[in-house]
Amino acid sequence: MSDLDLKNKRVLLREDLNVPVQDGVVTSDARIRAALPTVRSCMEAGAKVLILSHLGRPQEGVYDEKLSLAPVAVRLSELLGRAVPLRRDWLEGVDCAPGEAVLCENVRFNKGEKKDSEELARRMASLCDVFVMDAFATAHRAEASTHGVARFAPRACAGPLLVGELEALERALESPARPLVAIVGGSKVSTKLTVLEALLEKVDRLIVGGGIANTFLAATGVGVGRSLHEADMLDIARRLMTRARARGTEIPLPTDVVVAKELAATAHADIRSIHEVGGDEMILDIGPDSAEHFGASLDSAGTIIWNGPLGVFEYDQFGEGTRAIATAIARSKAFSLAGGGDTLAAIEKYGVEEGISYISTGGGAFLEFVEGKTLPAVAILESRAA
Ligand code: ADP
Ligand code: MG
Repeated sequence: MSDLDLKNKRVLLREDLNVPVQDGVVTSDARIRAALPTVRSCMEAGAKVLILSHLGRPQEGVYDEKLSLAPVAVRLSELLGRAVPLRRDWLEGVDCAPGEAVLCENVRFNKGEKKDSEELARRMASLCDVFVMDAFATAHRAEASTHGVARFAPRACAGPLLVGELEALERALESPARPLVAIVGGSKVSTKLTVLEALLEKVDRLIVGGGIANTFLAATGVGVGRSLHEADMLDIARRLMTRARARGTEIPLPTDVVVAKELAATAHADIRSIHEVGGDEMILDIGPDSAEHFGASLDSAGTIIWNGPLGVFEYDQFGEGTRAIATAIARSKAFSLAGGGDTLAAIEKYGVEEGISYISTGGGAFLEFVEGKTLPAVAILESRAA
């Protein structure tokens, strides 16, 4: 986008403004703030800026007030200090003066959006001179407003937020300063299996936490009681550990854990050696020794990639492991990159935004990039640029 003269051009700008909304008010505006520099630079360049985004999962072809972008238009206007009106029937054509921006209502209200309908994509393309794809967090989906429109618009290019995301991911994965350490937490090995496999081929150390660590512990014969773990993933976990040994990659497992008999805000938490977990207990966090040890091992890292909380951080008594690791990442001099919906919530909860080199706005797109998959919305831009 920065190579184009946008003066008086109709710019169709795809952002990901899919933010949490409660009672008509945006409750976390991180994604709106991430899009601001791009919106501002289009306006300053004298473009007529038509902003596109989805919100939630409406039934296509039906207007649903609950999933209207109206609250997003309000917050966007506040942050910009300029009114950004919301246009409901924008497919029919939109009036917008040079240097101004309008927000087009939820793209998913249109039939054919999710299926990347050619007819819908051509209608969107006819609204603009330049299509700018800036929504990294939806770049892994080929939909009419992320992919199809890029085929038919007179010009199609990447916006600065998308470029920034891709550059940060490439820096961490393609030519990382070593040692490269990945931290993968969250609930299940099964949902992150391809991420774990892909990372194993690149990293020098793979730290696991959360339900994933429970499955690895169970695979080494440790009794995990009633902990969240996947009994049908034990062979796969063993295979990953064998592969790691063959490559000389470390997968350090927790040596102590935080357990409880129930998962509740009022649950009483105990610290145990991994060898003393009771049959009626659940592992809900890594223990203080493990957190200390993992955290210290980050001090020497050249690059850190983090996805997934190390415990049930939503409850304070099971959040200390995640807090310790988040703090250690922030303290480290390494180039650090974090992504994932719950990971971002943890970063916000522990206030470590400043210490992390790059916080990706993508959840699914972040993970698919780490897996080495091609993001369709990026591939189409590359083919248009070729
Ligand atoms: P992200 O959205 O960052 O990719 P995930 O969705 O994979 O992360 O995982 C986050 C969830 O994993 C959180 O809701 C957290 O409570 C849960 N979790 C972490 N550790 C455990 C554990 N030991 N037992 C059960 N759930 C866990
Ligand atoms: Mg999640």
